[in-house]
Amino acid sequence: MVGRRRRTAEARPSSAPSDPVPPSDLVSLSDLVSPSDPGIELAGIRRGFGDTLAVADVDLRVEPGSRLGIVGPSGCGKSTLLSIVCGLDEPDAGRISVLGATTAPGRLAHCAWMPQQDLLLPWRSVLANARIPLENQGRGREEASREVWPLLERFGLADFAGHRPAALSGGMRQRVSFLRTLAAGKPVLLLDEPFGALDAITRADLQDWLRSTLVGEPRTVLLVTHDVEEALLLCDRVAVMSARPGRIVSTFDVPTFDSGPTVGGPAVGAGNGRTAGSVRRARLADPRFIALRDAVLASLERAREPEAPEAPDQDAPRFRGGVATPESVR
Ligand code: ADP
Repeated sequence: MVGRRRRTAEARPSSAPSDPVPPSDLVSLSDLVSPSDPGIELAGIRRGFGDTLAVADVDLRVEPGSRLGIVGPSGCGKSTLLSIVCGLDEPDAGRISVLGATTAPGRLAHCAWMPQQDLLLPWRSVLANARIPLENQGRGREEASREVWPLLERFGLADFAGHRPAALSGGMRQRVSFLRTLAAGKPVLLLDEPFGALDAITRADLQDWLRSTLVGEPRTVLLVTHDVEEALLLCDRVAVMSARPGRIVSTFDVPTFDSGPTVGGPAVGAGNGRTAGSVRRARLADPRFIALRDAVLASLERAREPEAPEAPDQDAPRFRGGVATPESVR
């Protein structure tokens, strides 16, 4: 009981919520994308590892504040591209610029990465995990806790702030992971298969939640996924990569489809009778959405053809109706 009391005390910063953090001190959600922001540009990017050419001749542009989804078969170089964007890797050839930064440290300074596995520290509470980026930036624990508290409240995690990750569901852990990514306060979010490890129902919930959250976030987002529907639900534009060596073979603009007040509002209980789930169902049933999904899938199928000619490819991902099957997520 003593331990429990201590965790609860740690969970809620002394200044929250009766002494809210001044808006100017909150993790900024409004000035991370400026009109003069050049966005992300890749031109002629090529990267190999020994005899393996991972990506070749990749040209991409991500407009500031927009969300680009990248879909492609396993091993086509999606994660390699993200590593290059965020400065953890360098291309062998080509040019890359992230908000004008071309050096690896400069690119890294602009990016926050959310991996497929939540990578939460098991010995730390939710709050202590969430504040890691701020501690890494030199903030003290108290200050960092105060800063992330509004995000915990906004993401429905405040009541779990004192819990260890092991006590959370997979979906909640991914919400903490995304919160931690946002808390870094970086203008570019790199989401690498963020829901690939979740079951289908939790993944759908999290997609709805993330869509609502991202619409209100002025961030530039690169989302890598096997799941075509996920890319179309969450992004403004979707790029299809070929099998290795990965090239961008086509891009698709994603129209808004619906512009009801629920979109961009709270995930559930928007007050207009439309929940995020009903918006999702309407979108999935929209003939234009279905046509676009089919076009992306067809492009994906064509993109795989040169790389899967001879024998049945046991490792190749299989898509059914735009949702990645478990065997396609490796
Ligand atoms: P994806 O994310 O699309 O599944 P990756 O970018 O992880 O693909 O990998 C693309 C190819 O490059 C794969 O064949 C992979 O084995 C190879 N690769 C990626 N990183 C390395 C590395 N550090 N060393 C050697 N090979 C690598």
